[in-house]
Amino acid sequence: MVAPGLATAASLAAVRAAIRPGISTLELDAIADRAIRELGGVSNFQMVPGYSHTVCASVNDDVVHGIPNGRRLEPGDIVSIDSGADIGGWNGDSAMTIVLDDPARPELVAARQLLSDVTEQSLWHGIARLATAHHLNEVGEAIEEYVEEHPSTKAGATYGILTDYIGHGIGRSMHEAPPVFNYRVRQRGPEVKPGLVVAIEPMITAGTTETFVRDDEWTVASADGSMASHWEHSVAVHKDGIWVLTAEDGGASGLLPLGITPVPIP
Ligand code: MG
Ligand code: MG
Repeated sequence: MVAPGLATAASLAAVRAAIRPGISTLELDAIADRAIRELGGVSNFQMVPGYSHTVCASVNDDVVHGIPNGRRLEPGDIVSIDSGADIGGWNGDSAMTIVLDDPARPELVAARQLLSDVTEQSLWHGIARLATAHHLNEVGEAIEEYVEEHPSTKAGATYGILTDYIGHGIGRSMHEAPPVFNYRVRQRGPEVKPGLVVAIEPMITAGTTETFVRDDEWTVASADGSMASHWEHSVAVHKDGIWVLTAEDGGASGLLPLGITPVPIP
């Protein structure tokens, strides 16, 4: 699963390099597709029945499953891109959020960047916990703990972790058992042991956790119009440690500050 993980990472890196005000999410979709194919992969999103794109692109109050379209991105937009690659029948799945600069609205940009940063850091805390966890529910516990400790700067407001959508096991299929909750649950979940590979993916809004699906029957949006962020990595547990398959450095940049050293898969 190293190869599809790296192809997934490359597709997001290509989007990161290209994204700017004026580009459309449909153009970013083509850029992601090219990056996956260059590494010998195919988009696993394109194999999802009824879906024909390489990425999901969710802008502003769209949280996940946004369909790429021709609308031009604008300064200040907060854009989540979710991508996945299949190589040799094995899968990768990863997502990131990018806030486009808007010199005219620095406070708006800062607030949206904070939402993205807290979401990303909550993901790294969840991944770090996986390295020492006995049961999978500890991952969601770590994510929720981090989010609780880092409320939005808006007085009295906190961020909300979506419970309508969750992470998942990944392997021969993009979506497999077990479910991976991004928040505290009573059930301890499966034992964390070598061979477990999971996609951890907190989806967080600056307001309500209630969502609805738009008329396109895919796009999930926040019910109160609040901004949203989504970060995701596919992570392998093996006999010597954990390795973030969808990060070029195995997750070192996110995990070393948290005292966890990712270990390459033997
Ligand atoms: Mg995904
Ligand atoms: Mg996923």
